Amino acid sequence: MNFESELKKGNFIISECTNCQKIVWPPSEFCNQCFSEVSWRNASNHGKVVEFSKQNNDYFCIVEIENAVKIMGSVSNGIPNVGQRVKIDNCGMKGENYYFEISLI
Ligand SMILES: [Zn+2]
Repeated sequence: MNFESELKKGNFIISECTNCQKIVWPPSEFCNQCFSEVSWRNASNHGKVVEFSKQNNDYFCIVEIENAVKIMGSVSNGIPNVGQRVKIDNCGMKGENYYFEISLI
């Protein structure tokens, strides 16, 4: 599996070490702790807001997922707070960049 080709299709997958079970982020074929191979699986689509910012009228959040992965997403439904639970509704790639659309729950 390849992270970017899956993301293009709207599938958010993460790599998990087959030896030490660490979630490897940024995604990689090999564990950055013990250098074993990883296996790929779907990431949880729930996370929590770590940080947010406002640009014009849009809010953007850094969201932590499974206590390991941090992604940046745009918020579709209101004003986020640090610690708030969110859900990933959509993901993909725009050119070279990852994008995630999230909503507050
Ligand atoms: Zn490992």
